[in-house]
Amino acid sequence: MVELSNGASRIYGEAAFEMLAKAQALERNGRNILHFEIGEPDMETPQNIAQAGIKAIQEKKTHYVPSIGLLELRKAVQDEVEKTRGFRPDLEQVVITPGLKLGIFFSILSIVNSGDEVIYQDPGYPTYRSVTSFLGAKNVLVPLLEENEFRMNPDDIKERITKKTKLIIVNSPQNPTGSVITKSELEDISELAEEHDVFIVSDEIYSKMTYDTTHYTPTARDEAKERTVLLDGFSKYYAMTGWRLGYMVVPQMMAERLNDFLVSAISCTAAFTQWAGVEALTGDQGFIPKMMARFKEKRDRIVKGLNSIPGFTCLVPKGAFYAFPNITETGMTSQECADHLLHKAGVAALPGTAFGPYGEGYLRFSYAATLENIDGAVKRIKESFE
Ligand code: PMP
Repeated sequence: MVELSNGASRIYGEAAFEMLAKAQALERNGRNILHFEIGEPDMETPQNIAQAGIKAIQEKKTHYVPSIGLLELRKAVQDEVEKTRGFRPDLEQVVITPGLKLGIFFSILSIVNSGDEVIYQDPGYPTYRSVTSFLGAKNVLVPLLEENEFRMNPDDIKERITKKTKLIIVNSPQNPTGSVITKSELEDISELAEEHDVFIVSDEIYSKMTYDTTHYTPTARDEAKERTVLLDGFSKYYAMTGWRLGYMVVPQMMAERLNDFLVSAISCTAAFTQWAGVEALTGDQGFIPKMMARFKEKRDRIVKGLNSIPGFTCLVPKGAFYAFPNITETGMTSQECADHLLHKAGVAALPGTAFGPYGEGYLRFSYAATLENIDGAVKRIKESFE
């Protein structure tokens, strides 16, 4: 009998997409479902950005372009990183990808060998585990604890570093908890990486999505020239999830290898989405503070609402658009509670365990929803427990 590769069985799906499919199946049977499962902004791509993409297509920018990315966009990323991170990367360090997910894939593929140890936070974004497991690397989990506001503690990393450690993955603002690591914690982590000669991949896709706190990057220490990789993109704060566009800033020797990864796997990122990306970075930035003001209102509404549900308690997240309530007092597991909410309340949220074992006892709500639906969901959840 034919058999698939061993690696194929170690690539995992993503609960958000599975839950969406379940919720949509119920909707097809006439159920009304309020959606809190998918991690994307509920706003449309700003018109100036969309128009730049349309114009590029009309101007026949529909051909192959350099694998590593359009020069114009890479230069815009250079300026952007200088503005937002305080260091100016060399052009040779900037790589464009079709969505940041591929940036995660390719950075891990180019750093990690089978048998290496990779340290990352749990609960965390499932793609990290998928790629490291596929490669046969050992996943070394750092639990994110509610009493530490779900921030990764550098001492926990220190305890877990061994001779086999190859990579530390950092994600702040964090999915699924909405936590934001402090500058001094990140400095400690980058110091540890230097001391033990390991790589850091810093997933900063929510970099512009903080509330009353500033984002900081662990890549500032070596300016992504030696051992750190900066990953960011357009999906979240420019509301461009469907355009598929991300960027990486990497040590130059890695950029050369990434060029060949990209040539082999995708040839290039679509030219017209990259032109839209140039407009996103260089055009009017008014969209982002407006979106964040709306998100803040929604965050405050959902946190207050969740805290009013018996058995639920919820911290105030400092970034992204996720609330991560503790549901242990309901007496249910995360999965039971998510199923209960879907079937009894018509509310789709994700079990914390979709993000790793330390997510047990929690749910993730993506609050990119209307205030009306937030209020409606809280009411329905309360009623479902009566
Ligand atoms: N990293 C994190 C932490 C994310 O939450 C997401 C999107 N859910 C991504 C990366 C992937 O972004 P993209 O849609 O650009 O591939």
